[in-house]
Amino acid sequence: MARKQGAPESVARNAIAYEFPQAGRPGRFITQADFDRQVELDDFADLMWLLEWVQSTDENPVSRRQMLGMTESGRIQVFAYKFLPVPFDFHNVAEIAPRTISKLRALAKRYVETYIVRHDPIEVPIKATKRLDWFPPKTTWNEPDSPPKEWWVDATTVAQDPSAAFVLRLVDLLERRGRQIGVCAEPSCRRLFLKLKRKQQEYHSAACSQKTRDAKMHQQPDFLEKRRDIYHKRVNRRKGLAATNAE
Ligand SMILES: [Zn+2]
Repeated sequence: MARKQGAPESVARNAIAYEFPQAGRPGRFITQADFDRQVELDDFADLMWLLEWVQSTDENPVSRRQMLGMTESGRIQVFAYKFLPVPFDFHNVAEIAPRTISKLRALAKRYVETYIVRHDPIEVPIKATKRLDWFPPKTTWNEPDSPPKEWWVDATTVAQDPSAAFVLRLVDLLERRGRQIGVCAEPSCRRLFLKLKRKQQEYHSAACSQKTRDAKMHQQPDFLEKRRDIYHKRVNRRKGLAATNAE
């Protein structure tokens, strides 16, 4: 049996469990590092979809890439059920009604604006109420044996209620990854985006960054004069050079 020597394989677990062994089903044992990396990739993919989704309009719909080729109902279910601690059969889940979809989208938008943009706490109504406070969260999710108790939910209840599963995953993501969501500093844009390049990333796109630099430059009162000065200096220097060469 191929197994690396000297590297004890820790079993990764999560409060909203990820891939730990189930009764009657061999669990997927992975190292903590593998687990963290996979969670991070899943989180980022779902956050990017979420941010596009809550900011989408008819003119600016969610990109096909973020929808993973699914309907809105299907994409919401993938988002919501990612961390269910029981083997989950998607075929038994009914389509989410359009009215519920609009409700969830409005809720997600409100949570993002409250918690991420304004850093205000949110009362989350999941059975017992859970309060989100701005960072740092008191309990980290990577401590396998000490998940925050209030997050233990009855998986079968959640599985029957896509809205509950959605809210659970939403607040989990906002709490753990919220600091990586930025608001574009370009005043006319203010778009929410995932900071993937670096923590201090201020603009959601290169275009917005350039727009701000241009605006700053034009705001300087002596912008045109400076440009004229530079031009004249250059011309004069050339003339001077020409005169020197002619001598
Ligand atoms: Zn922008």
